[in-house]
Amino acid sequence: MSEKKKRPRIDRNLSEEEIQYYYTLLDESITDYDCGDLCKDANGGVPYCCQSQHAVPLLYKNEYKHLRNVGDLWHEWRPVDADDKKLKETEGDDQIFCECKGVQHCIRDQRSISCRTFPLEPYLDRRGVLVGLTFIRDFVDKDPDTGRIKCPLSRKKQDIRQDFIDSHFIFWEKLMLRKEDEYETYLETSKSLRREKARTGRRFEILYPTHLLNSKTAKRFIY
Ligand code: SF4
Ligand code: SF4
Repeated sequence: MSEKKKRPRIDRNLSEEEIQYYYTLLDESITDYDCGDLCKDANGGVPYCCQSQHAVPLLYKNEYKHLRNVGDLWHEWRPVDADDKKLKETEGDDQIFCECKGVQHCIRDQRSISCRTFPLEPYLDRRGVLVGLTFIRDFVDKDPDTGRIKCPLSRKKQDIRQDFIDSHFIFWEKLMLRKEDEYETYLETSKSLRREKARTGRRFEILYPTHLLNSKTAKRFIY
């Protein structure tokens, strides 16, 4: 009988090269128009997701290092109040909350993974298998200050380009294979969507990649 081999531990830290490769997978435009036009008028002329009081981009430390090497768009985010401090504590060992200089300084190629993937995240079905993308739960609700849906694109799923969904699906598949903690995070967020649906009947959207659009298997385990 052969001795049971210990599984090698994967290096958790993404390298700068990996980040640059991921950026190539995350280069598709999300819509055929600028979706900032859907939300900026209600938010002082700035897209909702580009305001750090609404969403603070979480970068990998090597991603931040890379972006600092190529420019000065990004700096470390500093918590101000108690809520900020609580958020700061959720940073992983290889992550850092950051802030950009503002939308007027945005450089497309220097957007972070957080910027590029917003407002979607992976959805894992009851088997724990990635089957599509879903809207980040918090941003489909109304903002209490404006009474408007935080991310209005979450009501326009049909406007999201299939090429965007397909390439982002590949990105998430690779990332979760590479980083177990990311897999665990989205396993939990997907479970909580199902729990909420069972409790309240609230449905959530799933955006399928092309190869699963007509798959009966993928749809059998989604709820
Ligand atoms: S992703 Fe949503 S919040 Fe961000 S700019 Fe588009 S519509 Fe606005
Ligand atoms: S880098 Fe660009 S996309 Fe990202 S938060 Fe700043 S303005 Fe928005």
